[in-house]
Amino acid sequence: MNSSKSQAHYQDALNYFPGGVNSPVRAFRSVNGTPLFIDRGEGCHMIDVDGNRFIDLCCSWGPLILGHNPPSVKAAITEALEKGTSFGAPTAYGNKLAKLIIENNRFIDMIRFVNSGTEAVMSAVRLARGVTGKNKIIKFEGCYHGHVDHLLVKAGSGLATFGESSSAGVPEAFAKETIVLPLNDRVALKSAFEKYADDIAAIIIEPVPANNGLLLQDPSFLECLRLHCYQYESLLIFDEVISGFRVGFEGAAGHYGIQPDIITYGKIIGGGMPVGAYAASRAIMKHVSPDGPVYQAGTLSANPVAMAAGIAQIEACLQDGFYEGLEAKTKKLVESVNQFAEDKGYPVHLFTIASIFWIAFTKADSVRAASEIEAEKMSYFRTLHQEMLKQGVYLGPSGYEVGFISAAHQEEHISQIATAMQNALDVAFAN
Ligand SMILES: *Cc1c(COP(=O)(O)O)cnc(C)c1O
Repeated sequence: MNSSKSQAHYQDALNYFPGGVNSPVRAFRSVNGTPLFIDRGEGCHMIDVDGNRFIDLCCSWGPLILGHNPPSVKAAITEALEKGTSFGAPTAYGNKLAKLIIENNRFIDMIRFVNSGTEAVMSAVRLARGVTGKNKIIKFEGCYHGHVDHLLVKAGSGLATFGESSSAGVPEAFAKETIVLPLNDRVALKSAFEKYADDIAAIIIEPVPANNGLLLQDPSFLECLRLHCYQYESLLIFDEVISGFRVGFEGAAGHYGIQPDIITYGKIIGGGMPVGAYAASRAIMKHVSPDGPVYQAGTLSANPVAMAAGIAQIEACLQDGFYEGLEAKTKKLVESVNQFAEDKGYPVHLFTIASIFWIAFTKADSVRAASEIEAEKMSYFRTLHQEMLKQGVYLGPSGYEVGFISAAHQEEHISQIATAMQNALDVAFAN
């Protein structure tokens, strides 16, 4: 594979951006490579600046559920663009996207649009604190919630439940307001609530944890969170930035039939444009400014071009059979690779929910907590990633990342991916 133009762009980019990138995982460091610079996307394909063509399984990390540049989204963007890019005043586009979402989701009454998943989470946490008048947040090891100060926190050492910041620049005092617990551990949950009974504003969780492998939870654990929040008058925040509009139109709330207090969205909601949102019941949302005392604002929020893209994508998601079709294709891929790995005796298992999959280097048939992932096995992923690129399939450049199937991936592409993955596994386990 010739990547000389990507290499040149990367060398250039190193002059402008830390690590040559504008978001760290793009740097390809965990696969010991250098990033490919992308020229364009077409359906399920991505074409780099050297003209290499890949079937894309990263899909911009989730937003592109219709694939690249789908005609309906492109047409909606073009139409909105003709009228101007931003007004700093309301437009009918915002109403239309809100209505489409709220009328088709039993778990929310009102929504506020922001510009990214991080911003949605940051605002949801502030809202939970504003509503409850409490301070502490419980989060789980193995869940990612964007680069919000209070949530860039990892489990502290020893038995302390207080977090330690996982980034420089996050004050100790912030980290102390975050309690980090292991996923799937009811005992730890119970003792955290007993210890800080009066001061827990919220539990935040990715109900489908998909940023550190795919750590599918037992639904009864999510129920258990719900019950603790009722009992201690804390709020339950589902961070559905990945799972929203992905594991079904109503996201994980709908999939598991659990009513969270606040839901955050991002990724798919903007049709490939920068949009995030947080949503809740009317009673909770009335705390948000200008109706209530919780301040939150945005110069470019509900930007009309981004809203138009969101509308077109969300309308496609609402078509009959949309999610069933995606799930069937994903299942086909996962089952064929799992069968292959089992026949060959490779310690590999693909986990899946809806159109998300994750390649785990294990023979276990469940991985529910971050501590169950063996870091040293990621060397297999490096080989797999390189081999897949050589065979024309683009995976996100980290073994902790999940893959996504879009509506643009056809049966023939699924077969090509399966074959490439099988060949790549043969190389990864050659000795
Ligand atoms: C991607 C993601 C975020 C952050 O969203 P950005 O748009 O990257 O700021 C937050 N939470 C979850 C669950 C995510 O997957």
